[in-house]
Amino acid sequence: MKYCENCKRLTSFENKCMRCGEKNVREPQENDSVYFSTLQYPYAGMLEDVLTQHDVPHHKQGKLGAGMVARTGTLGTEQFDFFVPFGKFDEAKELYEELFAVEEKDDYPPPQPITHKTLPKRLKIWSKILYTAAVLFAGLGICSMILAIINDGTDLELPFYAGFILFMVPGVICAAIAMSFPKMIEYYQREREKYLEEKYSDEEETTDD
Ligand SMILES: [Zn+2]
Repeated sequence: MKYCENCKRLTSFENKCMRCGEKNVREPQENDSVYFSTLQYPYAGMLEDVLTQHDVPHHKQGKLGAGMVARTGTLGTEQFDFFVPFGKFDEAKELYEELFAVEEKDDYPPPQPITHKTLPKRLKIWSKILYTAAVLFAGLGICSMILAIINDGTDLELPFYAGFILFMVPGVICAAIAMSFPKMIEYYQREREKYLEEKYSDEEETTDD
């Protein structure tokens, strides 16, 4: 079991984070803040109460900013990530299972969906580049559209409309690629875990050929 500082998760891989791909993983220390679970109201409050009652230090992080909650009024649906010190992880897990009557599972904590925030560093950079390109293309496209409208009825109208389409197409493609990154990573990780599971189960079995 190793600890990834990038996404604060425990990973069962020895040299890589299962979740974000970070290679710089290390032995977890007692005081490392470890991702524990994501819960929604009212479960988040229930867990918080139980952890407090049993003196398990924890840190709760809302997934939306406070401003966002005020604007959209989604307090009731806001999700919270819980973090506990590594040294208290097992105790927190027991309390959680007792509270929610969860059966013990090997794959605890359950895998969480990947978001742009938890992308591997390199993909995060690419995602920023692609989004910037998308915004630039869209800006140029809109300028062309405005120029086409201004030049209504002249010879320039058609080239500017063509420019609008020529700029918008790569813009949409860039945005679509960047948006699909979390899904791509999730797919890749699922496949890799499947592959590793098969590989290890093959090694355990004694084959006849
Ligand atoms: Zn990680």
